Amino acid sequence: LPTLFASLPPSSNYFSLEFFPPKTSSGFSNLQSRLARMAAALRPLFVTVTWGAGGSTATKSLELAEVCQRQLGLTTVLHLTCTNMKRSMVDEALESAKEVGIRNILALRGDPPREEYRDTSEGLATDSNEEFVWAADLVRYIRRQYGDYFSVGVAGYPEGHADESNPEAGKQSVEHDLPYLAEKVAAGADFIMTQLGYDINAYQAYEKRLRGYVDTDGNKLFATIPIIPGLMPIQSYQIIKRITKLSHAKIPEDISRRIEAVKSDDEAVKRVGVDILSELVDQIKALPQPDGVPRGFHFYTLNLEKSVAFIVERTGLTPPISEPEPESSPGDLSDSDA
Ligand code: FAD
Repeated sequence: LPTLFASLPPSSNYFSLEFFPPKTSSGFSNLQSRLARMAAALRPLFVTVTWGAGGSTATKSLELAEVCQRQLGLTTVLHLTCTNMKRSMVDEALESAKEVGIRNILALRGDPPREEYRDTSEGLATDSNEEFVWAADLVRYIRRQYGDYFSVGVAGYPEGHADESNPEAGKQSVEHDLPYLAEKVAAGADFIMTQLGYDINAYQAYEKRLRGYVDTDGNKLFATIPIIPGLMPIQSYQIIKRITKLSHAKIPEDISRRIEAVKSDDEAVKRVGVDILSELVDQIKALPQPDGVPRGFHFYTLNLEKSVAFIVERTGLTPPISEPEPESSPGDLSDSDA
């Protein structure tokens, strides 16, 4: 198993939490205390910190990643995109990550800035650096520069990657992405983290397809690689509508009906959302998993605390502790997530 998972007993489940760097300093310090609380109460295997494509959040992402890794002592995965990034920016990000003790990178292409591709007749936006066109280029670069120092993760798309910057958008599918996912893994990626989704059938089909995939050289590249499903708690009716539109994730009929039935009551949407996500976790837990590969879950938290805390508690994902109980539990949380 890659270093990121090395501490886990083989039959255990684990989860990770994703955070983005807040824009303001008060947002930053609020998140810092929230993170400390969540880490103590929930004990994720690791946390991840997002990166603004083109390096737009570079300083803040690195600052948050440092807080997570150094101050809070959490194993931290830094997302890093490569499109519209000069090589010096990539170098700086990797070096800074290394300096603060981060050993894990989620290597992504990122999306070109919207204005840029709206104006290009060719579809694909102009990239400021031809060295980094696809995520695979970044994976290769990290391995070339740093050897095995970093665990490297890459993105997977159980419902196909909907690439707005590509003129073929709409035709994209798991089928289309697979050779490129294979390229990322062959280049040295050692785990796959997926786009958020609510469709268990699509997710199940995706994992099955990956596990059985044979590349052109006859290798079963994805046979045992950790595949971590991305799950986003349902925070409000508006948010789920917007996010599923952006990510092109389908909401199955039955789930949609349950949310629509309570859509005017924010608290009820959150409650039903916790039920839906907990069921998804349980359904994914029941899927076949290669021997010796622990089953993990990645939560897109949107920097919010309560829903994910309830889901993690309800599904028993919090690992057993050997130290004394932490003082706060998710039930004690009285602050607002807003
Ligand atoms: P790639 O793997 O390069 O794939 C992009 C598209 O190009 C796919 O459709 C693929 O099929 C196709 N493709 C790949 N290689 C080739 C090739 N050689 N020739 C032709 N087509 C090819 N974005 C951010 O900006 N910041 C983040 O922090 C961030 N975190 C994310 C975390 C996760 C878990 C996921 C799933 C996505 C995240 N994203 C983030 C979004 C991501 O950057 C976008 O979805 C982006 O459009 C694709 O990135 P990728 O790494 O999947 O790209």
